[in-house]
Amino acid sequence: MGCMPYREEMKVPRGYSAGVHFLGTTGASLPLVVWGAIRMGKEWSQFSFLACALWASLFFLFASGVEYAAHRWILHRRRPGLTHAFVEHTLRHHRWFDSTDIEARLGRDFHQILFPVWGVILIQYLVNLPLCFILSHFIGEWIGSLGLCVGAGFFFLYELVHAICHFRASHPLFKVGIIRALRDHHRRHHESGLMAHRNFNIVAPVWDILLGTRV
Ligand SMILES: [Zn+2]
Ligand SMILES: [Zn+2]
Repeated sequence: MGCMPYREEMKVPRGYSAGVHFLGTTGASLPLVVWGAIRMGKEWSQFSFLACALWASLFFLFASGVEYAAHRWILHRRRPGLTHAFVEHTLRHHRWFDSTDIEARLGRDFHQILFPVWGVILIQYLVNLPLCFILSHFIGEWIGSLGLCVGAGFFFLYELVHAICHFRASHPLFKVGIIRALRDHHRRHHESGLMAHRNFNIVAPVWDILLGTRV
């Protein structure tokens, strides 16, 4: 239990609720998924099922690559102008949940797991949404709408999967093989000797496999 003193000493805002925090990050993400889906419904005559599956897979791969790159090269490296992300992730999240203990036991532990809501809004509305508008405008409307669905859905999944990875090991969800595998993948990342080098993906270990950083 090496991290207990740090966990106890760190303050979280008074009245903090993990449930409200999760509703906030979800509430900022899911409307974009729904909006993308509604737009897709209106544009269904423009694409085939095969093209749709292909583009969704490609965009998922892209989103997974962004997750990998941001985690590997921003959250675990000090970058000028981006040190806040490094401090929050490497110095706080990885210290709160060190290699000996990554389990959240109290609601307050999720303050160090979930993204701040302003961060979700920044990524979803100032990065993902404009990118999909550009795709809609220059390549095709359904391309942008599906990209919005997949991109916003991916970031929502990231929050969900990362939170689940920090549940107690005895949680019934870990009876499901794929969820247990994702948790083990992330648990190894929390080992202090590995965190800056291995297992950067959360939602699916695609880029860890492609770039040989999976243990
Ligand atoms: Zn973590
Ligand atoms: Zn990390």
